[in-house]
Amino acid sequence: MDFLFSELQQGLYEEFAQIGTIVAANVEKHDKDASFDFVAWRALSDAGLWQIPVPKELGGLGGSWQDCMVAIEGLASTANDIGFLISTLGHIGSLRVILSVGTDAQKERWLGALMQGDVAVTAMTEPTGGSDLARMQLSAHIVGDHWLLNGAKCHITNAPVAKLGMVAGRMPELGAKKDITLFFVETKQPQLKLGELEDNLGIRTSPTADMIFNDYPLDRENILGAPGNGLELLYDIIAFERALYGVIAAGAIEQMCSTSMERVEERYAFGKPLADNQYVQGRITDMKISSQQCRLMSYASLQGLDCGEKEASINCSITKFIAGETILSAAEHMVQLHGHLGFMNNDISRALRDAVGMRIAGGTSDIQRINIFNQLRRQYKDQRDGVHRDYHFILSELQKPDLDRFHAAISAA
Ligand SMILES: Cc1cc2nc3c(=O)[nH]c(=O)nc-3n(C[C@H](O)[C@H](O)[C@H](O)COP(=O)(O)OP(=O)(O)OC[C@H]3O[C@@H](n4cnc5c(N)ncnc54)[C@H](O)[C@@H]3O)c2cc1C
Repeated sequence: MDFLFSELQQGLYEEFAQIGTIVAANVEKHDKDASFDFVAWRALSDAGLWQIPVPKELGGLGGSWQDCMVAIEGLASTANDIGFLISTLGHIGSLRVILSVGTDAQKERWLGALMQGDVAVTAMTEPTGGSDLARMQLSAHIVGDHWLLNGAKCHITNAPVAKLGMVAGRMPELGAKKDITLFFVETKQPQLKLGELEDNLGIRTSPTADMIFNDYPLDRENILGAPGNGLELLYDIIAFERALYGVIAAGAIEQMCSTSMERVEERYAFGKPLADNQYVQGRITDMKISSQQCRLMSYASLQGLDCGEKEASINCSITKFIAGETILSAAEHMVQLHGHLGFMNNDISRALRDAVGMRIAGGTSDIQRINIFNQLRRQYKDQRDGVHRDYHFILSELQKPDLDRFHAAISAA
């Protein structure tokens, strides 16, 4: 396993760290208004983030998902905006599923828009619950030669600004327990209504809303993969997003670490810098330890996922668990080290508000623990009962990155 960046990846990291500064420039305003930064999103899309993992013959850059992760880590290292980064996750889930199981016709219809940066959703949570996805009720019933989708999704990232995306639901005619299916929809349809923009505590730069489907018409092209195989596909998308939470946390914690270093070196108490106190040093070192844990777990778990490794699901859950828990304690350290300045309504306390949401989004820490234990229990029982499982994954082919394109882009920057 190689954790060092290639020359290309180093270039990607730096290129997207540059884009992160565009995000950081207006984060305060967007947090205040709970608005989406379309300018930064355009810059991100124009820089080619969504093209990285797409094969060249489909108009992409022929890179790998790991290259994409490096770019997101670069973005996270300077963006100072967890919300904007969570919006990238809402989009990337749809990109991954279209790339992995989309038919030629589906790729023809939606891949171009996703690559150009038409904002996408990855919608699973319903009013009946987010942790327990098996309770979802949104359903497509067959009517003649098509289906009508009815039901609601809630708290969906990007919904107020999205044009398209993946929605998980059921096809009840397939029978109970084998009916979960993924659909791909376009949002500008009269049969899809959006709920009000939600007024959230944190992650306010990433707008969320409900999506209410009322006889929304679907044809075969709107169904991703085989009808009824939604759980298998969801497994990959959810695990992939969990892996990405690690680099987002790593980048954000690194920024918190630098901000805190400056504070403790420059602020004096009892005749010496705060940094001379071991209790203070401990807070900073804890931040550094956690950012490294998050980033290393991210790369390891993505590699395991894309290679079909046996513990991939456990590792993706561990990554999300560490990301959610440690970003919250790092933000708390940063607030504490700033004293009353950290308690005011500003950039420092925003990090804490955002971190609270990050521990919930993408599956709470409790749910990661449950997944880890369930996987361990299954492994134990398999071993006890002599059961052999093939760990097959839908994505295995890593493409060669387009070095020329990135060198050209980097030297032009
Ligand atoms: C910023 C943000 C963005 C989001 N974006 C999206 C999105 O784009 N798409 C999407 O589909 N969803 C999205 N969500 C929803 C998110 O996935 C859910 O909020 C999350 O999965 C938790 O579900 P819930 O809110 O229904 O809480 P519940 O499932 O009601 O859980 C409430 C609490 O009970 C705990 N709990 C539940 N079951 C158990 C158990 N068996 N044992 C122990 N504890 C348990 C949970 O850990 C949690 O703390 C987003 C959420 C946030 C905060």
